[in-house]
Order: sequence, then C-alpha cells, then structure tokens
Amino acid sequence: MKYISLGNRQEKYNLKEVLFRGLAPDGNLFMPESIPTLDASFFKELPHMDLPEMGFHVLSQFMSEDLSDDVLKQITKETFSFDIPLKKVEEGVYVLELFHGPTQAFKDVGARCLSRLLGHFNKGESRKLMVLTATSGDTGGAVAHGFHRVPGVEVVVLYPYGKVSPYQEYQITGPGDNVHAIAVDGSFDDCQRLVKEAFNDQVLREQIYMTSANSINIGRLVPQSVYYFQVISQLRRMGIEDAPVITVPSGNFGNITAAMLATRMGLPVKRFIAATNANDVVPRFLKSGKYDPQATIPTVANAMDVGDPSNFSRMFDLFRNDIDDLRKNLISSPVSDDEIKSTIVEVYKSKGYLMDPHTASAYAVVKKERKDDETAVFVSTAHPFKFNEVIDQILPGELNKSGYSIDFEIGKNVGKDIMPAFYKEFRSRIEKMA
Ligand SMILES: *Cc1c(COP(=O)(O)O)cnc(C)c1O
Repeated sequence: MKYISLGNRQEKYNLKEVLFRGLAPDGNLFMPESIPTLDASFFKELPHMDLPEMGFHVLSQFMSEDLSDDVLKQITKETFSFDIPLKKVEEGVYVLELFHGPTQAFKDVGARCLSRLLGHFNKGESRKLMVLTATSGDTGGAVAHGFHRVPGVEVVVLYPYGKVSPYQEYQITGPGDNVHAIAVDGSFDDCQRLVKEAFNDQVLREQIYMTSANSINIGRLVPQSVYYFQVISQLRRMGIEDAPVITVPSGNFGNITAAMLATRMGLPVKRFIAATNANDVVPRFLKSGKYDPQATIPTVANAMDVGDPSNFSRMFDLFRNDIDDLRKNLISSPVSDDEIKSTIVEVYKSKGYLMDPHTASAYAVVKKERKDDETAVFVSTAHPFKFNEVIDQILPGELNKSGYSIDFEIGKNVGKDIMPAFYKEFRSRIEKMA
C-alpha cells in the first residue's frame, strides 16, 4: 500500500515516510491511495477472532508491503494488550468501552501502535527520532505511556502549566526516561506554536528527525479502525445480526473517521452519529454546507473542545467530498454542558451505568436519534474517573462507591520542569535531548 496527500494524489509515499512526516509536504493530510476491502471469509471468522488477530488482519491490508508478518504481529499484540468490551446498557443500546488501557482513554490504542511503528522504522538510523506533542490533556498521557521506553525514540510532551487536571498531569509526567514532559508557562496555543516552530526550523531538521504524535498521523488513525470490527464481532457473538448505528463523541473527528474507514473495508454499519459539545462546526456544516471553523468554546467534555477539526478533510474525502453522500451516512448534533451533566446523572440513577462527560454526549444523541427497531452502539472514550471533578460535582461520593480507584498521588512530579513559552528556550532543550 502506498499513501497519497489529499492535496496531490499523483505523488506516492511509503509507510515510513508517512509516519515520519505526519503531514504531507504540501501541508495536507495523508490517506491510503486506495481502501482495501476485506473478504467474506474474514467477516465469517470475525466472531471467533481476538483483538490482536483482528488488528493484524486489518493493519496488514495497509502495511504488509512495508512490514513483515512477524513484526506486525508483535506490534498488534502490544497495541491491543487490553480488553475492549461491548456491554449492553439497555434494550437495543450497547456501549463499546475503549478506556481499559493504561491512561483510561481510547487514545491509548493509536498512541501504542504509532510508537511501535516509529520505533521499528527508526532502527538502524543514525539520527535520533524526536516526537513532539502539544497537549491540552488527554493526548499527552496516552503518548507519554505509549512511547515510554520505546528504543531510539525521544518524546517531548508540552502541556500548559496549571491548565490540565492533576490526574492528567500525573499521567504526562509519570513515565520519565525517554519521555520529556515540559510544562509551558502559557496556553495550549503556545504549546502548539512551539511545536510548529520546531517543525519549521530547517537547521534543526537537518540534525534530528522530528514527527508529531497527534491524530493527524496515519499511524494513529488506522489502528483505531480495528475496534469497530470488535463491535460486529461482539454483536454477532450475542446473536445480533443487523448492522448497527454507531455513535462517536467527536472533537478532531479522528475516531469517527477511523470507523468510516472500517465501513469502506466492508464493515456493516447502518449510519453514523457524531456527538459534539458546543463546538459544533460539523453539525453546522451538515446543515448549511459551509465549513466555518470557530474559536474553541470550553466545555465539560474538554477533549472535544475543537473549533477546526483536524480530520475533517479526511472524513469528507471518504465520501468523495460530496455533502449529500455525507448527509446520507452521518448525523451530527451538539450537546450542551447541562444536557451532558443531566444525562450522566439520569443514566447512573436509572441503569447504574456511570459515564464520563464525553461518553454522555454520545448517549444523549443516541436517545434522540435511535429508531425503535435499531441496534445502536456508542463508544465510551474515557473512564469516568478521568473526569472525577465533573462527576464529583454532580454525583458526590458515587465514584468512590463504585470501588474504582487508581494508584495516583496528587502533586507527584507536578511542575517538575516549567519552561517559558519562548522558542529559543525550547530549541536549546531539544538540542540537549538529541
Ligand atoms: C480525544 C478525545 C475525544 C475526541 O476524539 P476525536 O478523535 O478527536 O474526535 C473524545 N473523548 C475523549 C475522552 C478524548 O480524549
């Protein structure tokens, strides 16, 4: 499989180039040059496969030209090292829990796979590979844990000092070793700007390979398709044969794009629903046909606070940039903070199922859009414990009652390395690490 840029389909890139570059030289996103379809025997076998096997079959469609079967099997085994169960919430409604990985959010899947792919392709290189990541919270933890002790790769995670939750900060600063966490004295935008300046620094680029670990990297996107096959596998095992409606709480629209990629490979899905919070660029786009990015609005589901979703062009491309085709397959609606909170309380009280704010936005939309005879699956993108400040506020004491606890020391490693938001300062640190 070769890859192309969405801005230029003529030029082809191999997997290593695509992973190391992150973005195409013309600034556009990479896509596979074609989307392979899986044959009937794969779907027949699906209910009997475990996740690493599914992962191997799906990823080999995209990567077998560049990786041996043995290497890819090892990578998928290490990526899918935790459960991704499908659970029934009520009649006709199921939840896919993506939060059983090391940082309790779905981003663990993409981060683990990307880290191992990069580690593999950097073997035998004389230059070090540096992965630069700016995070407003969730990505940083997943990247820090996913890349921890991957040989030959140094990771820098920039996060805004004092602006991530104590638990998120603990996850970012905890791993250490080859993972360098830097608290930037500034905003998330400052963190992103510093990373961009480093990528544009041609002198630095001649000394060091640098890439990004955010969701534009195809090495994060493709593995996320795998767990949508798990949905069908689990439904079949429960004796449910119809194609489900799939709902994904969306920010940069990487997760839902991965699901759409799976349907292009043959996965039976009736239609998609993207839940958003007040950051409703895509719902407005579906209505008006105009893509109109906005400044980010802060909400209780803050990992979805995105005013200009980075995977939008990839998603639209899967529907040949035809808005009518997209409208046939995708519904998207925004959910307010009040609705998110009341949904968490109501579902907990009536069904005993506790959701984090992101997951709750998905459930709220399922309730509005699901037709009586449909099988609906929504994905849970984070464990409620990760957003304990919100849960404790609306359901005081209930998180503790659930018996769930995480070995987490508030204040440990916090603010270990605080840096002013100046590029000169950042650059000299990168040089020291390389
Ligand atoms: C990142 C994130 C999202 C949004 O996922 P996208 O792929 O950016 O749409 C949703 N929920 C949680 C908990 C997240 O961390």
